[in-house]
Amino acid sequence: MQTPSLASLAQNLRAGSVGILGVPFDANSSFRRGAAAGPTSLRQALHSSSANLCAENGLDLASEASWVDLGDLELAHAEEALAAIETGAAKVLATDARLISLGGDHSIAYPLLRAHAQLYPKLNLLQIDAHPDLYEELDGNRFSHACPFARILEEGLVQRLVQVGIRTMNPHQQKQAERFGVEVIDMRSWRPDIQLHFDGPVYLSVDLDALDPAFAPGVSHHEPGGLSTRDLLGIVQGFEGKLVGADIVELNPERDWMGMTAMAAAKILKEVLARLLQ
Ligand code: MN
Ligand code: MN
Repeated sequence: MQTPSLASLAQNLRAGSVGILGVPFDANSSFRRGAAAGPTSLRQALHSSSANLCAENGLDLASEASWVDLGDLELAHAEEALAAIETGAAKVLATDARLISLGGDHSIAYPLLRAHAQLYPKLNLLQIDAHPDLYEELDGNRFSHACPFARILEEGLVQRLVQVGIRTMNPHQQKQAERFGVEVIDMRSWRPDIQLHFDGPVYLSVDLDALDPAFAPGVSHHEPGGLSTRDLLGIVQGFEGKLVGADIVELNPERDWMGMTAMAAAKILKEVLARLLQ
């Protein structure tokens, strides 16, 4: 898979800056498509004149030159997409920049983690999600958006996986969680004052369905009883550890209402950017 536009844009990146990469891919969605349009919708919200580009710590991203929007990956062939995503991410990381990827369905986390693990052998993974995404396979697809964290753990790409927001655990995934030593903070035990601590580099994977559907209807799987937007922002701002990369996935504009989920996603992006640049 050739990504010439990415290769040229990546030349604008320098060590320490942050690249934003759209990954318009939803072929591994199990229930309904639509997340491929997520990056476009999120960017519209980010640049909407209804809000400024300041993060809550006061950092004005509008006057901050150290982040670059790299546009969308070109993903012509679904069967080659995961490999192309890994290659694209590796190109960005090779410039010593950090990467925030915008999904797309959650299957993109597996190739993104493959690229990051090359740089960070002792990587920690913080997944915020309604779902564990630990299936061995779903509907015959080992690369379904319900499976990426099983693939990541099988390959030993991270030393630790902490999941927050889970409220759909079933016996199979419970077994998988125990097999891989996943630390699950489910919604029954969630408290906003829980302190998350990591030793070493942290990759953050935000599935927007972790939010309650009341806050974020624009996702493919509505799962009531979730996090508030404030809860999620508190996690992004508050965990202890060194953030080195992130993705924000599962924004499905076909299901969104008045662009409110896109706006929540843009808000999360601003906070992730601020944390990476601080
Ligand atoms: Mn997910
Ligand atoms: Mn999910």
